[in-house]
Amino acid sequence: MSKIHFNGISKAKDAVKPKGNWSQGLVASMNDPDLVVDQDSVTITIKDKYPKAKHHFLIMSKENIPGIMSLNKENLKLLHHMKSVADKLCSKFDDKFKIGYHSVPSMQRLHLHVISDDFVSPCLKTKVHWNSFTTTFFMTSDDLIRAIDDTGSISKMSKQVHKELINTPLKCHKCNFVPKTMPNLKEHLLSHIK
Ligand code: AMP
Ligand code: ZN
Repeated sequence: MSKIHFNGISKAKDAVKPKGNWSQGLVASMNDPDLVVDQDSVTITIKDKYPKAKHHFLIMSKENIPGIMSLNKENLKLLHHMKSVADKLCSKFDDKFKIGYHSVPSMQRLHLHVISDDFVSPCLKTKVHWNSFTTTFFMTSDDLIRAIDDTGSISKMSKQVHKELINTPLKCHKCNFVPKTMPNLKEHLLSHIK
């Protein structure tokens, strides 16, 4: 995949100076030439710094939209565009990908996860990591766009549902295997690699 140069990114109209806060880390990474892989007038695509699969990218909005809870119908064009950037990126690989948003994101600035569905990575360590991509905690881009289109906003997930999803017992996303532990699961995932 071609890497687009750092030149110009630091001059981007909406470039934001990173604050000291950890939740602003993605904004800082938008200016990191080791992480940026592509950009256009409204998005910057970065590699996830702690990838949870062989390929894990984040499509970030240049506009300072804090996250999915701030979205409204005026953002629909951007959301469709972010999905098309994701589709184009995925077409460069043979792997299958998941494209979507965490229902309760931890990091600031709207970001779309583009993640290969092998989930083979040293950074995938916890049940929370696993369930955040393999349960309905992961909202597909299509579902999010539909929700904004229908209701104009994303409703906040209740603490109860959040807790239940994140604590869902481990299960392979490709077969019926029920691992006892994360190391069991990680070993099993290798059996699904071609
Ligand atoms: P979310 O739960 O949707 O907010 O996910 C945030 C993602 O950002 C996670 O997949 C992290 O691995 C990733 N991440 C955290 N810090 C950084 C950083 N400084 N640069 C790039 N990616 C990061
Ligand atoms: Zn399996």
